[in-house]
Amino acid sequence: MPLISKDLFKKPNNALEGGVDAQPPAAEERTVTCSECKAVLPLDVFKAQAHVCPRCGALHAMSARERILWLVDADSFQEMDAALLPQDRLGFPAYAGKLRKVQQESGEPEGVVTGTGMLDGMPCALFSMNPEFIMGSMGAVVGEKITRLFEYAAAQRLPVIGYIVSGGARIQEGMFSLMQMAKTSGAVLRHSQAGQLYIAVLTHPTTGGVVASFAMEADIILAEPKALIGFAGPRVIEQTMRQKLPEGFQRAEFIMEKGFVDRIVPRDAQRRELSQLLRAHRKEGLA
Ligand SMILES: [Zn+2]
Repeated sequence: MPLISKDLFKKPNNALEGGVDAQPPAAEERTVTCSECKAVLPLDVFKAQAHVCPRCGALHAMSARERILWLVDADSFQEMDAALLPQDRLGFPAYAGKLRKVQQESGEPEGVVTGTGMLDGMPCALFSMNPEFIMGSMGAVVGEKITRLFEYAAAQRLPVIGYIVSGGARIQEGMFSLMQMAKTSGAVLRHSQAGQLYIAVLTHPTTGGVVASFAMEADIILAEPKALIGFAGPRVIEQTMRQKLPEGFQRAEFIMEKGFVDRIVPRDAQRRELSQLLRAHRKEGLA
């Protein structure tokens, strides 16, 4: 079962989907339905609230680009390596077609967006993973873009903020995918050795290979409420351990209690919190 359902919101057809001849959508069509409380919300209200349901508080998925544009100062984001495209090096069955389909549907060439921007007037490097792109899985290009970002940030003496969501390594890229764990880890280490700050924000779900690499290697690890965070899924662990797992296992709150997450930050407080953290570390001369 996918961790985030594609049917989270029943989006109506819009003018873009329908082509140039499509009728402009009626006002009542520009709504989304909260999958938790079934509230019907105007799309612009929903987007303005960073995809948080105003009625029940449920956090719904945001695309990589939405996250970045919501976080940084207006018009400050400069994307890097947008032309790096994934390749089907192994000739994995159905992968090439899947890539084309997901590129078309998401409007993104790969599962991560990287670049630089300003947060409250402070420069930073940013990466943001895309849940709409094969569940934010880490293929060779995802690993390469993140590695290049950390290398650039180390050279330019910039802090890195990373928004993470991932189902893990991308199985269709086999060993090319798995080696990204070591490669990104090396880049994170070199950035750290250059005395620069790295803050990760773990969102639902953060699992698999990214947890075994850059997701858990940040100086400060923040998480969104109730985000699922773990290497293997609970069912696999239960079957292997032959034990019933405690309630809330692998949720952000449980992970924080065990010491793997520093703070849980609601979405509407993240901009302020990240800005404060950047500012605090500038004062200490680390950024
Ligand atoms: Zn709701």
